[in-house]
Amino acid sequence: MNELNLDDFKGIIFDLDGVIYDITEAIKKAVEDGIEKYQMNVSRDEVMEEIAHLIEDIQNYPVPEIILNSYTLLDIKFLEGLSFFKKLRIGIYLFTQFNQYKDEESKIFEGIAKLISNLSRKNLKLAILTNNKSSYAEEVLSKFNLTKFFDPIIGFNDVSKVKPDPEGILKILEIWKIKPSQAIFVGDMTTDIDAGKAANVRMICVSSGLAKKETLIEHEPDILVNNTEELIKIFNI
Ligand SMILES: [Mg+2]
Repeated sequence: MNELNLDDFKGIIFDLDGVIYDITEAIKKAVEDGIEKYQMNVSRDEVMEEIAHLIEDIQNYPVPEIILNSYTLLDIKFLEGLSFFKKLRIGIYLFTQFNQYKDEESKIFEGIAKLISNLSRKNLKLAILTNNKSSYAEEVLSKFNLTKFFDPIIGFNDVSKVKPDPEGILKILEIWKIKPSQAIFVGDMTTDIDAGKAANVRMICVSSGLAKKETLIEHEPDILVNNTEELIKIFNI
């Protein structure tokens, strides 16, 4: 496993869902419900990644844009061959179920709060970059008393192009007045890896269970860890 020397860095940018906030159970349950209700001939683990992306995409857009883009949004492999209206019905059902489970099932990953406060104590700047709304991030962070550690908190509403575009990362570096080589970005999806690499920061990918590990490897993160425990070890504090 690669070692990191934290003295080389001034700031760390975190993705929220899948890195700090664990939404895996909520997505799993929504997918199980969808497969059962629509009697789909697929396995849950096979479609998790596509559905995680779909849910992230839907959360990104205001409703009129979801409607306008629904044809493209729902152009995903596991819905292939179904009529557009059937796809739409399944998409809406999955999203509704996910939202229902999200509050009760979701928690922060074990050990992540301690890691964040330890990093902050080392005088490292910390930020959040999510493809979700920034108010959603603030809500989640405040629920776990973590808001005070992060400045800025950037969501899709603060940039013109979301990840995989590097805009959000570059914006944070500009606010902090530091160079890409002095920053680390921690994410869990291929879109995070692509954004981090395009911004030229050190990219750490946590395989949280939503994206397939082989797919993540194909996108070549600088460091790939299997879980939060390994992430904490990498920082060695
Ligand atoms: Mg994520």
